[in-house]
Amino acid sequence: MNSRKLLMIPGPIEFENEVLQSMAIPTLSHIDPDFIAVFENSLKLLKDVCQCPSGQGFIVAGTGTLAMDMAAGNLVEAGDKVLVVSTGYFGLRYAEILKRYGADVDILESEVGHIVPIDDIEKQIKSNNYKILAFTHVDTSTAVLNDAKSIEALGKKYNVLTILDGVCSVAGEEIKQEEWGIDVVVTASQKAVGVPPGLALVVASQNAIKTFENRKSPVSNYYSDWTNWLPIMQAYENRQASYFGTPPVNLIIALEKSLKLILNEGLENRFNRHKRAGKAMREAIKALGLELFSKNDETAANTLTAPLYPKNMDAKAFLQIVGDNGIVLAGGLLPELKNIYFRIGHMGSVNKADLLATVGVIETALKRNGYKHELGIGTAQVLKHF
Ligand code: PMP
Repeated sequence: MNSRKLLMIPGPIEFENEVLQSMAIPTLSHIDPDFIAVFENSLKLLKDVCQCPSGQGFIVAGTGTLAMDMAAGNLVEAGDKVLVVSTGYFGLRYAEILKRYGADVDILESEVGHIVPIDDIEKQIKSNNYKILAFTHVDTSTAVLNDAKSIEALGKKYNVLTILDGVCSVAGEEIKQEEWGIDVVVTASQKAVGVPPGLALVVASQNAIKTFENRKSPVSNYYSDWTNWLPIMQAYENRQASYFGTPPVNLIIALEKSLKLILNEGLENRFNRHKRAGKAMREAIKALGLELFSKNDETAANTLTAPLYPKNMDAKAFLQIVGDNGIVLAGGLLPELKNIYFRIGHMGSVNKADLLATVGVIETALKRNGYKHELGIGTAQVLKHF
């Protein structure tokens, strides 16, 4: 009986049964009036979750990388100056994507496990003429949380378009897209949004749409091109049938269900629950005597935690024992450091039972690998903080 495992990686995550069950229906036509109503509502609810009522939503078959690609491909023209504020793996990926569209990219990189100080970002923006600033809200490779509000304030002050990679943060960490002035939020279905992998999600401000409409050159990516997708999204919003690429009907039905659950929980409640989960996991890991990748609590992500292994721990053996005990955790992601740390996802529907089980199994795997700690000292922190 060892086939039932709890998926505690930073995406995909454990999904709500209601969401999974909502998909298990005969697929409707993408122009069926019932589906059109679901699509229209999903676009609206997505904007509600990003707190951007005046924005333009895009729901497209794909992954988070496609959402990143879509924002880059539609906003960048060859030669545009772009600043990427990078905290790890996905910041560097964004730089690569932007370069593909001819952007002249500067990368401001943080020290591993830290964010780039806001003064350094301001200094960099001040002395250059950037069109776009892109950054990762929660970097899934380091479990670091950027101060999105302060970065956005700089975007506003210096009139730079901002793109927030929210793949590991939307519906888990606070985002007030409209109030903070974020031009584009990109995300995906499989993390805190709570829907199986397969949806690229974007909310663009009217400012971003205007920038796209004023392009001098055509978008060089066919599938991502908003020239193709904008009329489709607008048609669904007006409850009209339309077609460019077949929408993943059952996934969008699940998206509507999950977005409703998110908003029923209440965004403040949800962000606070993630904060409690993040705090509980960090305190549990610290009580076990392990170091965290994210060096300080204010800039630590609440959707995942990245602990360093104790010295001389065999990463493969550790993850194997964790798996044999019913929990799936992720290894490290930064290529040169991937064997010195592991990652625990705790987002979406995560609850106390998930956290207790996960920390309990981490304790078991540490002990079996020869690490000395008092059993229960980590789980006690979950009980205290969650
Ligand atoms: N950005 C971040 C912050 C991510 O965590 C991920 C996925 N781990 C991506 C982008 C890419 O998303 P996807 O794997 O869905 O393409």
